[in-house]
Amino acid sequence: MKSWISRPVPVLPGEMPALRLFDTTAQRAVTLNADGEKSMYVCGITPYDATHMGHAASYVAFDLLNRAWRDAGQQVAYVQNVTDVDDPLLERAEATGVDWRELAESQIELFRTDMEALNVIAPDHYVGAVEAMPLIVPAIERLLRQGLAYRVNGTPGEPDGDVYYDVEAASKHAVGVDAWTLGAVSGLPEAEMLELFAERGGDPGRAGKRQALDPLLWRVARDGEPSWPGGELGEGRPGWHIECTVIAQKYLPAPFTVQGGGSDLVFPHHEMGAGHAYSLSGVPLAEHFAHAGMVGLDGEKMSKSKGNLVLVSKLRGAGEEPAAIRLAILAHHYRSDWSWTAEGFDEAKARLERWRSALAAAPAGTATELIAQMREALANDLDAPAALAAVDRWSERALNSASDNDASEADQALVRDAVNALLGVEL
Ligand code: ZN
Repeated sequence: MKSWISRPVPVLPGEMPALRLFDTTAQRAVTLNADGEKSMYVCGITPYDATHMGHAASYVAFDLLNRAWRDAGQQVAYVQNVTDVDDPLLERAEATGVDWRELAESQIELFRTDMEALNVIAPDHYVGAVEAMPLIVPAIERLLRQGLAYRVNGTPGEPDGDVYYDVEAASKHAVGVDAWTLGAVSGLPEAEMLELFAERGGDPGRAGKRQALDPLLWRVARDGEPSWPGGELGEGRPGWHIECTVIAQKYLPAPFTVQGGGSDLVFPHHEMGAGHAYSLSGVPLAEHFAHAGMVGLDGEKMSKSKGNLVLVSKLRGAGEEPAAIRLAILAHHYRSDWSWTAEGFDEAKARLERWRSALAAAPAGTATELIAQMREALANDLDAPAALAAVDRWSERALNSASDNDASEADQALVRDAVNALLGVEL
């Protein structure tokens, strides 16, 4: 699937220190290996809602990681999926009377435009579930043959043949220090897993399942639902976790460096995806799992049902500058849960203006130190607020000395490049 267009990332002098990132599985910050090519998979949208601030914050968070790696001179392979067929999309299409394909296409296009506006570096492979179907089917057939998946008999109203992943069998099948067993990624107690599984699209009560937590791999065709050829599985469509697993395994090394997403993906999505991957390949899906916090509105959870989604496209449509939106996001550490507020956005706009004024007065010989401070902040678990504070201090100094000094063009260019390369904000 077509991705979006990345803007050039300036190359900065000097060096990025070793990068530390909070790993959800380890429950602490770990130092990332500085050797070789880095690889990242960030779970994409289900395209039934335009990009809301929660999506934007999550993709901006992993864009910081991408930029930090690039600044360290590393090659980055980046893959993102788009779940262009799934229950929420079909439900929204049905509710609004729009064809699900048209709904998906229009929302994907809006997402691309939003990402481009926010200066998020595009993935090298942007892959839809529909186009990945020929990769997904053989993976599920293989899990069935391995005895790590099973078919469920139909019940009144449900046909025969839905395929589920056998979490218990898969956990027993796994051997070795790197092996996946249930809880390896999330570290959650079972009671909490059950609660989250039900909350986040799982079906713990489905009759015929061996374990409540077994996730769906293949949903056989139902009347009125789109379906694809499934080989031995029969016509149908895949579950969400296997979709991401198979796409990541196809386009990235095994294991790849970082699996990213919002913190609502820790369980079951990333837990089960890691299980599928281990069952299929015998190696872990990713070396590290990293998660971004949730964004609310004025202290409330942001959701379509509450009607309080803050949409990037809507802000852009109202003439707001994407760089200011990005700066409002970066004022919060990526792992914290925070709320979008009008005041926060005003502060971001004022900050952007202040930085631009300061740039015009860049004092000679100050850029190198600022770049070092920004790098140090970002190397410390992508601490964007600390990087912003460094630019704030530099701006104060520049504005205070504006009348006594001639601005240095070299420092001006360096600071502009640094803010763009490291933070993705164009001054
Ligand atoms: Zn995913």
